[in-house]
Amino acid sequence: MDRPFVRTGALMELASYPHWLQDVVAACSDAKHAVVGHEIFQQMHAGVLPPAAMRKFLASSWPVIEQFPQYMAMNLLKVQYELGTAHAMARKYLIRNIRVEQNHVEYWIDWSHGHGMQRDDLLFGWRCSSADALSHWCWHTCERDPLAVAMAATNFAIEGATGEWAAFVCSSPVYERGFPEDVRKPAMKWLRVHAHYDDTHPWEALEIIAMLIGHRAQRREIAKIESAINKSYEYLRAAFDECLATQIHMPFGSRDAAAEKAVAAA
Ligand code: FE
Repeated sequence: MDRPFVRTGALMELASYPHWLQDVVAACSDAKHAVVGHEIFQQMHAGVLPPAAMRKFLASSWPVIEQFPQYMAMNLLKVQYELGTAHAMARKYLIRNIRVEQNHVEYWIDWSHGHGMQRDDLLFGWRCSSADALSHWCWHTCERDPLAVAMAATNFAIEGATGEWAAFVCSSPVYERGFPEDVRKPAMKWLRVHAHYDDTHPWEALEIIAMLIGHRAQRREIAKIESAINKSYEYLRAAFDECLATQIHMPFGSRDAAAEKAVAAA
């Protein structure tokens, strides 16, 4: 590393980061927009997403929700405290965020219950192949790629985009009002905890990436980080596209017709 990066500007301002990293974020912005502005969230936000597509989305996203702490655990294994401040920060960030994720799988199950799905629908039910590709990609990059690349793919790209679409879905009361009152609070919990507009996690990840690599990144490092961020966005978009696509038989997810009717009628 030619020159270490020490942030002096605001955490949540892109201008606070090295030029090469600002360029990477800019180069990935179209792919990010295709995720956070995806039609599936437009329909969710407006309360018009067909129940079958909603269940496909919940079932298909499950592996990444369930495995996210494991991705971070694989990255934690790469941390070497003696390598300096960036590694010390990564260690703290990953340990803290693994703990934050502790209850999120349960919240996802509660959300799915709100759409008439049972635990087994998530664990053993159908999910789209594109969503499997997303979880395989996350596992692969966290297992094999350097710390900065894997954190860019997961903690920056996936957490960042997720915070934004969750905030968008929560920004109108329409979707929330689609749930009967007795299930509304637990069903909305996952969305609520991910919908903080001021969520600092992706920015903290960006700071760690900048510190790990410094002001002067090599061309191949830049290419790897940009490609990892873009891949995460592209796999997310492909998974959401498939959830919106034509009806696919779901062995578990289509059983609870009463719950589907309740949500559709609301
Ligand atoms: Fe989470």
